[in-house]
Amino acid sequence: MSVPFGERHLRLVDPSETDPETAHGYFGLCPQCGRHDGYLNIGSEHWFHCDTHKVKWCAGSNLFSDWLEETNEEHARHWAKLAGYREILPAFDRESRP
Ligand SMILES: [Zn+2]
Repeated sequence: MSVPFGERHLRLVDPSETDPETAHGYFGLCPQCGRHDGYLNIGSEHWFHCDTHKVKWCAGSNLFSDWLEETNEEHARHWAKLAGYREILPAFDRESRP
């Protein structure tokens, strides 16, 4: 089975592999396809996004500490990538919650 989302991004950040809460939609999912392509940090804010549908949503700030290890240049790159994405309200997969 092929992975239908951006390999480029997966190498950058891949929370869906490492964080089961993220993988199950705790932080929201694209309402159109029910998945996400991980998150990018912009400053302390974590922006989840769907590359297929070019949508994004902010899951909160300072929930994950990795933003502290990233540079301003990385955050600027993340911002540039997501600038063209539409901000939406995510769907939540309630059935996956205990
Ligand atoms: Zn989508």
